[in-house]
Amino acid sequence: MQLRIGQGYDVHAIGAGLPMFLGGVQIDCPFGFIAHSDGDVAIHALCDALLGAAALGDIGLHFPDNSPEWKGADSKDLLARVVKMLSAEGWKVNNADITIALQAPKLRPYIDPMRCVLAGILGIDAGAVSVKATTTERLGFVGRGEGCEVWAVATITKES
Ligand code: MG
Repeated sequence: MQLRIGQGYDVHAIGAGLPMFLGGVQIDCPFGFIAHSDGDVAIHALCDALLGAAALGDIGLHFPDNSPEWKGADSKDLLARVVKMLSAEGWKVNNADITIALQAPKLRPYIDPMRCVLAGILGIDAGAVSVKATTTERLGFVGRGEGCEVWAVATITKES
């Protein structure tokens, strides 16, 4: 069996009055993320971790942010497409671990819903999907409430 690890990183700026999507879940909040797609920065980082593990490029390569095709795209759909790209090459997702840095709002109530939604798309048990959230203690652009930063790690396997 082959085992690969990949990591992904993404940032989006916060904008007032936009819907906020994180990990495939809508967050009840008066602001959201400025983006060409729905701005789900957690899913974007996860897509890059998966693509990175399979050495299949990155999210910007497959879903360019200047293409009308992906304007307002549901990031859950982008993730499903990434999973399909991997499975076309024989890769199965093994696990994922995501860290979201956001000053506000508190994400605790949304963590388990995110794990369930992501696990459903990845085709794995929610027990293999970890989502963690942290503030940055008011430091930096995250701490000033200007943006959200996400790191993701995923492992994939292939029978050989
Ligand atoms: Mg992005």
